[in-house]
Amino acid sequence: MTARGNLFIISAPSGAGKSSLLSAILQDKPADMKVSVSHTTRQPRVGEVDGEHYHFVSVDEFKALIEENAFFEWAEVFGNYYGTSKAAIEVMLEKGIDVFLDIDWQGAQQVKEMMPEAIGVFILPPSKAELERRLTGRGQDSAEVIAGRMAQATSEISHYDEYDFIIVNDDFEQAQVDLKAIIRSQRLTRASQIHAQNDMLNDLLAD
Ligand code: 5GP
Repeated sequence: MTARGNLFIISAPSGAGKSSLLSAILQDKPADMKVSVSHTTRQPRVGEVDGEHYHFVSVDEFKALIEENAFFEWAEVFGNYYGTSKAAIEVMLEKGIDVFLDIDWQGAQQVKEMMPEAIGVFILPPSKAELERRLTGRGQDSAEVIAGRMAQATSEISHYDEYDFIIVNDDFEQAQVDLKAIIRSQRLTRASQIHAQNDMLNDLLAD
């Protein structure tokens, strides 16, 4: 019997290294872990592929999806719409796949309300100075966008206490170890193991 997959909410201020961490964890494409691909109305960045990084849609298309009740959660972030479609995540969870939602605090609140068992993980940069250095170093956005994101960072960070786990991404290797430990721990809970080890438990308890 396959245990239902766990739903992980991963949030962080822009520049904390959330995307790099998720990419590193999923580098070997494990069959039992997937990042949900969100819909967004923002323009693709250089190198971003439609359907892989995001489903890039127009504002009209996004609003039509809201009307159709297609989103598990959605929010406006930095002036663009972002949303997680219901269809994608439910099928994966049923198959026993752990699903990662790379979403902001507004989406996280909605998910926690609907699915309290979802596991919230907040990733912090080690300092404001380091955060600013990383945002400037990325080189993909204009100075105006970077300044806007620095201002947003404090507001995003203020929601850290709404999450179950906190990872400080100072040392990237350590942050990966920490995230893997959280994922593994959730597969070892009694609720998960009752399903995953059903046959073995029956065997052990048989007269
Ligand atoms: P970016 O434009 O840099 O890819 O993402 C900006 C912010 O939007 C990030 O904090 C990211 O986690 C958040 N975001 C991405 N997809 C979703 C989504 O589907 N829902 C919500 N609520 N936030 C999202």
